[in-house]
Amino acid sequence: MASDKLLVSAPSIVDRDFVKPKLYGPGPCDYWPSMEEALSKPIITPNCDEFYHVLDDIRAGLQYVFQTKSKLVLAMSGAGHAGMEAVISNLVGRGETLLIASRGIWDQRAFIIANRLGIKTEVITAPTNATFSLEQLEPELKRLRPAALFITHGDSSTGTVQKMDGLGELCHRYGALLLVDTVVSLIGVPFLMDEWGVDGAFTATQKAFSGPAGISPVAFSALAEEKINNRNFEPPFYFDVKLQAHQWNCYGDTRSYHHTLCAPMLWALRCCLQEITRETLPVSWARHAASTAHFHKRLQEYGFQLFVPEPEDRLPTVTTVVLPPGIDYLEFTKYLREKHNILILEGRGPTVGKALRIGIMGVNATTKVADTLADALVDARNAFQSANK
Ligand code: PMP
Repeated sequence: MASDKLLVSAPSIVDRDFVKPKLYGPGPCDYWPSMEEALSKPIITPNCDEFYHVLDDIRAGLQYVFQTKSKLVLAMSGAGHAGMEAVISNLVGRGETLLIASRGIWDQRAFIIANRLGIKTEVITAPTNATFSLEQLEPELKRLRPAALFITHGDSSTGTVQKMDGLGELCHRYGALLLVDTVVSLIGVPFLMDEWGVDGAFTATQKAFSGPAGISPVAFSALAEEKINNRNFEPPFYFDVKLQAHQWNCYGDTRSYHHTLCAPMLWALRCCLQEITRETLPVSWARHAASTAHFHKRLQEYGFQLFVPEPEDRLPTVTTVVLPPGIDYLEFTKYLREKHNILILEGRGPTVGKALRIGIMGVNATTKVADTLADALVDARNAFQSANK
């Protein structure tokens, strides 16, 4: 076709110089060194056997990281929100009630997603620097008898980690399924899906997995599977786990097409799982706990205040830090980026203007990174305090 028919001319798309910062925010974090090779592996499609091997490897790795023997384990194309939307839409139908335990912005996202699906939402709140107790949740479960409870395990907007022991049993006593966001906790914090009676869990690959964003692992319990097989509502086609289970060969007898999976993301997720299974979960959990404990100790020695008062509520992957009065959070993060090439983030949702959010997770969960961060924070605070004098 003649070029004079084109209404839009070709833009100039040029590379710019870019210095990658050290990714020490609440995510994404830095990649495993092996990721570069994984991302350059060949394109795989359902027309080659390697595609099925990769899917099988991923499912086996996911059963390990979620700690579930369930067969209904796979990965949704899309970032963590895809997993969230899939877990909610497959397990709660229009007109059913979803009880949302809300303490940060991710529960608010669950609220928005559920409302758009015509699900009735009920919200119970906790202070943003604390978590929920079973005693607090039980009366609401008893009163509302919801189809499910949604709770965030690790909350990257507040830096808190929810205790999960006994929660599944409590939900099941009142006929509710337990749906859990593990986006910023899985791998970095102990999570035992079957042991804790979790029915629907989702995560993402750009946090403690140390991979790129864009694929969201999900896992469903036997109880959840029963609901999926007997539900009288349909989730959005793209997120339908029943259909996707055939693509992922969850039951060992199907290899059907649902949508085209992104080959680099499959290789990337497989690479994360290879690294994690080599390291093993207990070692990874201990590494995250030790580096964050070291970081907190250093911060407290230097007089920084942690946003979360109770040590047991503090999330090992994301720390929230309160700055002394008179220091602007955005200016502070800008200084760290410019002077130290460190990217951390200011608060989000309930922590806007109240805390910094600092991630020590995945490959960055080391005492070396904790020391680099602590030294940079002290330097930045001193710089701001002497400028304010
Ligand atoms: N849940 C939590 C706890 C998160 O930290 C995030 C991302 N920061 C999400 C959900 C959403 O994930 P994504 O941005 O990958 O969609």
